[in-house]
Order: sequence, then structure tokens, then C-alpha cells
Amino acid sequence: MATATSDALPILVIGGGIAGLTAANEAAEAGHRVIIVEKEAYLGGRAIRLGKYFPKLCPPYCGFEINLRRIKQNPDVTVHTLAEVTKISGGPGDYTVSMRQEPRYVNQRCTACGECVEVCPEDRGDDFNYGLTKTKAIYLPHDMAFPMKFAVDMAACQGSSCSKCVEKCQYDAIDLAQQAQDKELKVGAIIVATGWRPYDASRMDNLGFGTHPNIVNNVTFERMAAESGPTAGKILRPSDGKLPKRVVFVHCAGSRDENHLQFCSSICCMASLKEGLLLKEQYPDAEVTDFYIDIRTPGRYEDFFTTAKEAGIELIKGKVAKIEPSTDGQYLVVTAEDAVSGKKVHRVADIVVLATGMQPSLLGDPLAGSLEHDEDGFVMTPLSDAGIFPVGCARAPVDVTTSTRDATAAALHSIHQLVARS
Ligand SMILES: Cc1cc2nc3c(=O)[nH]c(=O)nc-3n(C[C@H](O)[C@H](O)[C@H](O)COP(=O)(O)OP(=O)(O)OC[C@H]3O[C@@H](n4cnc5c(N)ncnc54)[C@H](O)[C@@H]3O)c2cc1C
Repeated sequence: MATATSDALPILVIGGGIAGLTAANEAAEAGHRVIIVEKEAYLGGRAIRLGKYFPKLCPPYCGFEINLRRIKQNPDVTVHTLAEVTKISGGPGDYTVSMRQEPRYVNQRCTACGECVEVCPEDRGDDFNYGLTKTKAIYLPHDMAFPMKFAVDMAACQGSSCSKCVEKCQYDAIDLAQQAQDKELKVGAIIVATGWRPYDASRMDNLGFGTHPNIVNNVTFERMAAESGPTAGKILRPSDGKLPKRVVFVHCAGSRDENHLQFCSSICCMASLKEGLLLKEQYPDAEVTDFYIDIRTPGRYEDFFTTAKEAGIELIKGKVAKIEPSTDGQYLVVTAEDAVSGKKVHRVADIVVLATGMQPSLLGDPLAGSLEHDEDGFVMTPLSDAGIFPVGCARAPVDVTTSTRDATAAALHSIHQLVARS
């Protein structure tokens, strides 16, 4: 692997999801030094938590593995995990960036042997699986985590009053006294790849999210269908682990709604159709019903829509009014108005999946103050600053293909900026 040919300041990539990893690889392989700042304990972002990618229905770990290999092989990429940018000053070609790195409480000597887990007495909700499972307070974020090191969730850990993991670790890799560190970075261009988070479905009282285990949102369903998920990809009814016979998908759960997200997240129709197909793949006789406002499967994604229809997915144009448990408590009953017939319709379901939209992850984040945003909180390309490039879902709610295209273009723009100034 060639090392950096440019002596310009490095390019900073904020966020290590698919967009950030793509931008980092493209810039580094073109001869530039790159620094990735990722706030989680691992790289990969939200895309690696998906069940399978539309339109090809391939598992996200494949592409991630290739990106990761490129990062690992390239000495010009520096990765800071558990780190966030708190302030940006300066301008194109010469930025000063403040970064805070939270402690992992586990050092480079960790071999990920997992012996620490056996003695840890505390549990925590596994955020990688959207709380479907638990891990110990000392945990490996996921099977393909990079860095492949354990981390301690100090909110769940008893700290030095326990220290069982410290005593157990034969590599002296756990240090519960580690402190957060503030660092300053000098960089020449900034790619903002901070991505998205799911809209909070519990804000819609009528949809019952959080009141019943079988009402889940679309990101949780992705984990239920993922080979790397809690059931190794077997989709089961969360309340009792039974096979689901009837599943209802509620499109636009909170989207295109002036009380919630005013915009369309552009991928949720595709995601719901995909999730229905994943269910049908496992249970061809399962009944799948999608309630939608409009189906949005633009361009070549139209083929995917046709595939879903041919697979027998029932599509009803109508907004869901309520979701309630049946009187015997065994099922859920979904009530909606069919916008075509004008009649009220009901569907009984084992699982109801709410297709919640994507909100920018920077809403309420300290970094947000250093950037320009549109009215929904997505990062805009600043007119006043030619060295900052928002990409992927930091810029708009988009699919993986658009995110990687954005990222490649931003790597090129960053390089162009740096070369023009050298
Ligand atoms: C239910 C669902 C299913 C989907 N299925 C598909 C599909 O099948 N095919 C497809 O093409 N698309 C799909 N998508 C869309 C896909 O998830 C996105 O296109 C993709 O995740 C965008 O990648 P990203 O890197 O922009 O953002 P993210 O994946 O969100 O990555 C952003 C990264 O930035 C980090 N970060 C956030 N804030 C900070 C900060 N302040 N400092 C440092 N780091 C930060 C995050 O921790 C994360 O690692 C789906 C979306 C949903 C909601």
C-alpha cells in the first residue's frame, strides 16, 4: 500500500459509517493522510446493523469487510473511536479541530479473548441490537468490530469497587481509571459523515410503540432479520419466540407529518418492502400487509417494488389510525382507512413494524454549532466555507449507494481544495 504522497494537512472525516469509511479510503488511496473521528466504540455506523441491503439483498458485513481491510492496510488512516469533535475553527486548508475522546477502559493489549465477560456481574442493554439483547458491562461491540477490542460501559459498571475483570485479564488490558482526553487536530479539509438516527416512534401515541413487545420499529426488525442478530437471522415474535404468521408494515410512521418529520426519508418504502421479502423468504406462507401513503421506489428501485408485489405482499393505500392488542391479548389489531375504497380496514398481526424515518444524528450535538444546517437539521454545504463537505445521511436521508457516491465526490473535492492551496 502506497503511503501519503501529499504533504498537505490531513483530511478529517467525522463519522465512521459507510459514507465516512468510503471517503476515508478514497482520499487515503489517492495519497492523502486521513483522520477518522467516530463517536461509537467501533466503525461501521448504522448500515452494518441492517439485515440485508436492498436491492441485491446481500448482507452488509461483506462490503464492510472490504472497507475495513482497506482501512487496516493503509498507514495513512488514523482512527479515533469513542471520540467526538466539539469545535471547528479556521478555514479551508487550515482548520483547528477540538476533539474529546472518551475512555474505553481497555487498552491495546486486549486480545478479545472474552474471559473478562465471564466474571462481569453487570448487564446492559445491547445498543448494537437496539436493546433486543443484553451484554455485560464489559463487552465486544459486535463480532466484526474494529478495533477488535472490548470496551467498558461505565454507566453499567461498578468501577474499581468490583474490578473482577481487571483481576481476570491476563494481558493487563483493563484500566478502569482511564480518563477522557481532549485533543487538538490540525486538518486541511473536513468531511462530515455523521449519519442518522431513527425517529422516536414512541412520540406517536396511536401506534403503541413501547407498549407492546410485538410493535417494533424498522431498525429493530433489521436486527431480528440479521444473521449477526440475536436469533441468527430467524425472524421470531418478540413476545414469545413463536413463528410469525401475519406481519403488518406501517409506512411513513411519523414521516411527511407536520407534527413529526415533515420530510420523506426516501428509503423507508424500500426498507419495508425489503423486510417483507426477508420474512417471505423464511416463511413463504406468511401474510404480509403494507399500509402506505404513497409508494416511493424511484428509478430502478421500481423493479424491487414489482418483486415485492409478485411475492404476494398486500399493499393498502391508507394511513394507520391505531394499533391495539386483540381482546385475548394474543395478537395485534391494526386499524386503518383504505384511501381507495374509503372503508375502514383491520388486519390482525403477530408483529407490527413501524417504518420510522431518519433524523440527522447531529440534532442536539455539540458539533452542530460549528456547521450550517437546513430546517430539518441536515448539514448543508456551507457557502462561506469551501473546505467542509457533508456526505451520506448527514446531508440528507439517502440509501447506501448515494452515501458512497457522495463520499467519493467529497474525497475528490477535499483533495482538490488541498492541492489548489499547496
Ligand atoms: C430501516 C432501514 C433500513 C435500511 N436499509 C437499507 C438498505 O437495505 N439498502 C440501502 O442502500 N440503504 C438502507 N438504509 C439506509 C442506510 O442505513 C443509510 O444509507 C446509511 O446508513 C448511511 O450511512 P452514513 O455513513 O451516512 O450514516 P451512518 O450509518 O449513520 O453512520 C454515521 C456514523 O457517524 C457516527 N457519528 C454520529 N455523530 C457523530 C459525531 N458527532 N462525532 C463522531 N461520529 C459521529 C455514528 O456513530 C456512525 O458511525 C436503511 C435505513 C433504514 C432506516
